[in-house]
Amino acid sequence: MTIPFFDGHNDTLLRLLDHARADKLDLFIKGSQEGHIDLPRARSAGMAGGFFAIFPPPLKAGLAQVAAAPDYAKGQLPPQLDLADAQKSTLGMAALLLQLERAGALSVCRSVGELTNAIKNNRLAAIFHIEGAEAIDTDFQSFEVLHAAGLRSIGITWSRANAFGTGVPFRFNADPDIGPGLTDAGKELVRICDQRGVMIDLSHLNAAGFRDVAAISSKPLVATHSNVHAICPCTRNLTDWQLAAIRESGGVVGLNFATGFLRPDGRFLADTPIDLMVRHVDALLEALGEDGVALGSDFDGAMVPAEIGDVTGVPKLLQALLDRGYGEQLVRKIALENWLSVLERTIG
Ligand code: ZN
Repeated sequence: MTIPFFDGHNDTLLRLLDHARADKLDLFIKGSQEGHIDLPRARSAGMAGGFFAIFPPPLKAGLAQVAAAPDYAKGQLPPQLDLADAQKSTLGMAALLLQLERAGALSVCRSVGELTNAIKNNRLAAIFHIEGAEAIDTDFQSFEVLHAAGLRSIGITWSRANAFGTGVPFRFNADPDIGPGLTDAGKELVRICDQRGVMIDLSHLNAAGFRDVAAISSKPLVATHSNVHAICPCTRNLTDWQLAAIRESGGVVGLNFATGFLRPDGRFLADTPIDLMVRHVDALLEALGEDGVALGSDFDGAMVPAEIGDVTGVPKLLQALLDRGYGEQLVRKIALENWLSVLERTIG
């Protein structure tokens, strides 16, 4: 039995953009054994779709390397990115996403109706997500263009500051309440996203920004790829009050597979058991209820447990949840249905 799943976060577009090979589309469509996700492996694993993140990387740090080593800034916020630089890389990845759609590899879905249609027609269903709003100007002109191109999900910040807010630095044994909240432009961005059916992603935002989004947005609160701070006390994970606020709003958290956000010692080690992922799911279920837990792998952006390996390892996690005694109905919710439900209530 293959249980279809929808994934809350991958950095595959960044891996493709950064790749030395010219035939970037073929890397995805025909597949390779590199990285974590390509079309043949996604299909064989039962991946119905996911959030395809567009992450504008720091220019000097080496693109994919940054996403793979989230502690590279040593607990400090990385420098801010210029609008022009952010727009260049964002458009590069958006173009790849749209070219993949034109080549028939996936569908860029603008609503839950389009998502369910794509899934029904056996087409990989993609949500166009930006991880860090650096490419959006404070007059929101590029917002219009990106929205027209299919943008339906925004992480206001990656782990750095921008015109809209301040991200949480990568620190271990630390509380995410570091730094100031959203700017006026950031608060305006939240209002616009609510109006225009763009989901806001709280992963990477600091605690003050989280509180601002919770106060302004009328939509469910969502963290696409974050874990439980009580198990792994990293700033990227969610504390008890954050989980309670997400539950209160009817929101969702996607389980992040990055070993450094799973392990109680905060280390990025491939030798990390699937059991530890199950422990986070247990705690998320306890905090959020059966409607609030989903997947957010961070594939192609982080070191994941060796037992998972790549997207073809997701069925092992789902099997581990079944073995833990979760009913098939609950596993199907975690795998796919909870994402569809919260997307229906955010993007429509
Ligand atoms: Zn991330």
